[in-house]
Amino acid sequence: MTRHHLNIIGFIINCTWISIFFSGTPMMWILMGIASLLFLIFLSLGILLPNRNYFLTNTTRLNSDSVLLTFDDGPHEQLTPQVLETLRRHNIGALFFVIGKQAEEHPEIIQQILEAGHLIGNHTQTHPLMFAALRQDSVEKEIGLCDNTLIAQGIHPGTYFRPPIGYTNPRIARAVKKFKKRVIGWSLRSFDSVLKEEPKLLERVSSRIKPGDIVLFHDNLPQTEAILERFITQAKKNGIKFAQPKDLKTIFR
Ligand SMILES: [Zn+2]
Repeated sequence: MTRHHLNIIGFIINCTWISIFFSGTPMMWILMGIASLLFLIFLSLGILLPNRNYFLTNTTRLNSDSVLLTFDDGPHEQLTPQVLETLRRHNIGALFFVIGKQAEEHPEIIQQILEAGHLIGNHTQTHPLMFAALRQDSVEKEIGLCDNTLIAQGIHPGTYFRPPIGYTNPRIARAVKKFKKRVIGWSLRSFDSVLKEEPKLLERVSSRIKPGDIVLFHDNLPQTEAILERFITQAKKNGIKFAQPKDLKTIFR
């Protein structure tokens, strides 16, 4: 039972007791209005805050003191290899949520990611910005095509999935179930797509990082690549332990 189901049940219960006790009175319409408003507020929060597990179960933290770095929207021709080099220097293992179309264009970088011992996850084939507005068949097509792109490269697509932009809804929840995917969210959003000034981005992630975090970065953004070395060095000095490639197989257990 998801929170979405609980919200629907709550709404039905509210409508039932309101119509029993206030039938035919002006108060009935006021209370019905309040019940509808509450339903819509919870629904909107569920859509806008994917980490609240409203439509589906979403892993947003680790059950250990390690920190897992995740990189979305690659592979990027120049930046992803640089990110990989920084991670290699620090013996850090990460999870890359790749876009199928990007993977098609850069199969050699997908191989580099895997050879370095990192994990790969499905981030849809074309990363539609309105993913949450797509019809059921289009949602499934986006997930299936990304899997197929990886399979065509001889790679097992695995179970990890992250919806573009992070918004979810019942259609995405159904597709996730159908493809037997596990949705991985985050506990620390770097906002690297918004904070283009390196000092601000570095300050944001460095001041918020804590044990158990899953960090959301993008490996197709120059500012992320530019701060990564300083961020890791500073965090390590402050006692943060990043997941190593050897830890990744059991990272979500
Ligand atoms: Zn994305």
